Amino acid sequence: MECKNCHTVFEGNFCPNCGQRSTIDALTLNGLFESFVSQLFYFERHFVFTFKSLFKQPQILLEEFSHGQRKKYANPFQFFLFFLTIYLVLYAVLGDDLLKNLGVKMQVDGKTIDRSTQVLSIKENLDKYMNYLYFLRPISLAVGLKMLHFKRMNFAQALVMAFYVEGINLFIGSIMMFPSLHFEIGATQAILGTLVYAIVFSRISDSLWVGAIKGVVSGMISIAIFGGLIAGYFAIFIINKG
Ligand SMILES: [Zn+2]
Repeated sequence: MECKNCHTVFEGNFCPNCGQRSTIDALTLNGLFESFVSQLFYFERHFVFTFKSLFKQPQILLEEFSHGQRKKYANPFQFFLFFLTIYLVLYAVLGDDLLKNLGVKMQVDGKTIDRSTQVLSIKENLDKYMNYLYFLRPISLAVGLKMLHFKRMNFAQALVMAFYVEGINLFIGSIMMFPSLHFEIGATQAILGTLVYAIVFSRISDSLWVGAIKGVVSGMISIAIFGGLIAGYFAIFIINKG
């Protein structure tokens, strides 16, 4: 038979060239619905399984993924992109309200200065690049992981783990937006993020404690790189505005 997607001639259930099923029916509403439902369930099982594996046995995930069991887990970039999408959608809806609760009123010489307009204009400017800036988080985390000589990981493996872990942290960040609309949550999100680094990377090292500490320090290096870039950007923006 001939593949309807790429026109390769083959025998079997799946095209050896592009992977499309050989039994593709005419496009019907019923068929669309069935494929939507099955994708949804597949996606859910896949993501939930990967999410759990990252906490329960990240060392096995890393080992299996490295040795070719790629289909068993969600793709790290898709995993990250999925949670980034949720995060950015929520941020687009809630972002302005979130920033209003930040300390935008500053005390200068006993006078209170409202910086909210300035903060919002910085935010607007930053939002344009936000989608790209977020990709620096997993990349800088991978740099941090390599700097600490995680023996079990080469840089590609560090990147895979970093994309997974930053996906989890985006998920936490998304959830934390809701309480922070109403309460001063302070460092809660940072503490949770640090815990994620500690839990996941404690298993990747030979010793739990060494792994946890290395994980936390890698996270700090990553935040320092990322924060430095954002701070630099803010500084340039403020200097330009006078
Ligand atoms: Zn094909």
